[in-house]
Amino acid sequence: MENIIISEHQHSQLTQEAIKLGASACVVITSGEIQVKDDLAALCNGEYPCPNYGLGASCPPNVEGPAEFRKWQSRSRYSLVVKIELPISVMFSDERKDVMRLLHHIVAGVEQKAVENGFEQSKAFAGGSCKDLFCEDQENCCVLAENEPCRHIASARPSMSGFGIDVTQLMLSCGWPGQKAEKSNASDTESTSWVAGLILLA
Ligand code: SF4
Repeated sequence: MENIIISEHQHSQLTQEAIKLGASACVVITSGEIQVKDDLAALCNGEYPCPNYGLGASCPPNVEGPAEFRKWQSRSRYSLVVKIELPISVMFSDERKDVMRLLHHIVAGVEQKAVENGFEQSKAFAGGSCKDLFCEDQENCCVLAENEPCRHIASARPSMSGFGIDVTQLMLSCGWPGQKAEKSNASDTESTSWVAGLILLA
């Protein structure tokens, strides 16, 4: 099935699921609004000093990248964007990993709900490295090392970064501020920041 239209009932079911699972906000956008940039994906190509490069099945060079994303995007009419707002002091603390795991849990849960609603080819994307977030205490990603199913298949999803998704533009498409607060403001108890994820409905 291609370019399935979303009904009001599905719209409400999916956005409510995101909020129920812990999202601060969820917006439906047309998938064509998602901007995918090769140069952003290139930041994950191994030259950029990401300590998680190549360690998990959900990070480059083990993900399909921008070209494949654009094919998925062409077969999708609508997408959901979720965000979790958090105090900036948490964003730059050890608690950040808990928030990132929650983000994965939310997008994977909404993806599952989308599948139940007839969007059987839906794909969810989060942020951060699943090796770092879910398998930090494991020597290897078992998908890569042993060709076994992911240990956290119900939650762990690939990061938007590896596909070159322009997250700032994604936020603006939702009518949300695109910029994140700076680390230099981490002691400001009033400041908030956000993390975001995406579910491509198809
Ligand atoms: S097994 Fe761990 S590192 Fe590998 S894809 Fe799953 S969560 Fe990521």
